[in-house]
Amino acid sequence: MHEHIMKILLVEDDKLLNHHLTTLLGEAQNQVHGTDSAQVALHYAEDYPIDVAIIDLGLPDMDGLQLIRQLRERQIAFPIIVLTARGNWQDKVEGLEAGADDYLVKPFQKDELLARLNALVRRSAGFISPRVQAGEYVLDLSRKELTIADEVVVLTSFEYLILEYLMRNARQVVSKQQLLDQLYGDGEGDPNTIEVMVSRLRKKLDPQGTIQPISTIRRQGYIFNLSCS
Ligand code: CA
Repeated sequence: MHEHIMKILLVEDDKLLNHHLTTLLGEAQNQVHGTDSAQVALHYAEDYPIDVAIIDLGLPDMDGLQLIRQLRERQIAFPIIVLTARGNWQDKVEGLEAGADDYLVKPFQKDELLARLNALVRRSAGFISPRVQAGEYVLDLSRKELTIADEVVVLTSFEYLILEYLMRNARQVVSKQQLLDQLYGDGEGDPNTIEVMVSRLRKKLDPQGTIQPISTIRRQGYIFNLSCS
């Protein structure tokens, strides 16, 4: 799954957590500017093109809320996610009121953190676009475009429509008639054309035949085997 490479400001004074997060975020090739100090964080925020900040609320030299207010007062606009160990609703509300965009309560799952960060960065960069994704296959629904491992694969408009329908109904049997309805609206058209297009799609999706994302279910139709999100 391709994600935008992020420049992340990490402000956390818990040494172990700071270390874990730096390692975790760095694994995805993100650039992490980590510190345990709010003062240092303010410098980083002005000196580096940060995409997103992770800020612990309990810091030794300044309250995390105070840090967020100061960042916002300086017109620094990158999205901020707050870490709170306390988990009470006042922390969350205060964090958001101070100018944070989101919060996570410790302990949290790393996948949860990564998902939130990516959502924040995509939203703030303004390039959130509806997509359906299954492993390396990503359909961009507004651009009507398929990428496989970040490479654009050229599809005819009918191939695209078939694939979109199969992926939207992943792991369910889709009949040829349903696909014909997608292509022709009124259900006309020759079921044989579906076979031809599905066979072309298979070659484009899986030239080596190793993944076989689309299976034929005899006398019933087709199924997209990978789960989509
Ligand atoms: Ca702390």
